[in-house]
Amino acid sequence: MADRHSLESSELQSAQAELPPDPVPLSVTTVDAHCHLDIFTEGGPAGAGVRAALDRAKAVGIDRVVQVGCDLPSSRYSVECAIAFPGEVVAAIALHPNDAPRLPDLEGALAEIEKLAEHPRVRAIGETGLDHFRTPPEKRDVQEYSFRRHIALAKKLGKTLMIHDREAHDDVLRVLEEEGAPERVVFHCYSGDAAMAQVCAARGYVLSFAGTLTFKNAPQLREALAVIPADQFLVETDAPFLTPVPYRGKPNAPYLIPHTVRLMAEIRGVSEEEIARVTSATAERLFGPF
Ligand SMILES: [Zn+2]
Ligand SMILES: [Zn+2]
Repeated sequence: MADRHSLESSELQSAQAELPPDPVPLSVTTVDAHCHLDIFTEGGPAGAGVRAALDRAKAVGIDRVVQVGCDLPSSRYSVECAIAFPGEVVAAIALHPNDAPRLPDLEGALAEIEKLAEHPRVRAIGETGLDHFRTPPEKRDVQEYSFRRHIALAKKLGKTLMIHDREAHDDVLRVLEEEGAPERVVFHCYSGDAAMAQVCAARGYVLSFAGTLTFKNAPQLREALAVIPADQFLVETDAPFLTPVPYRGKPNAPYLIPHTVRLMAEIRGVSEEEIARVTSATAERLFGPF
């Protein structure tokens, strides 16, 4: 997530009224590899709001989503949502790097994440990682400790590690090396440049691109996507944040993925069907079968 604390629910509600229109559907289906349904839908993890969001996405070719938890309530929600929508939703759960250092009982929370993570509908441990943008220097020890614990959990359970890295590229790569990375690692909302992308690719990591790929001021992301192997990238929304151009600033949702897929096709010089096919296959390799 970008920063869910910055959007008040009243703001979100009024923003919902101005949701962007549906894009032209993709003819090959793919996956939203990272979203927060709990933040922008009503009615709980098995409710009508989630159903409506999934239906709207499915109508344009996004027929599966990874629902991501950031704290205990949203992690519990994610597991329930994945149970309620088999074939359509799988869960990733964790204590977000900005939340972990603020918790009064980090050990207790980690213990509950470890228990929840055993559920077969949980396919990834994340989002975890490091965020030097929102967490001040004096809290970074705790943040890194929490990241190490999540890495250990992903390895212990054989699940994919889903990383949040904000302005902390070198330290994230260092900690992964020190701990020994799990077999499957994905950088959600990839924010590095082409040189870092090559390092990640060489280590077997997968890079997941959000709507930021379409932002005018992010040429380094487009350069990164251009240099990595076809089976090492995913597409995501991080909804309700990071809405792709031309709807930047409006609320995001999984049905808006086609905008990002179409730009990916342009950057890679392949068809949009090919982008959908490879991102779907990579998502199933990391998270699936749904
Ligand atoms: Zn997120
Ligand atoms: Zn994030």
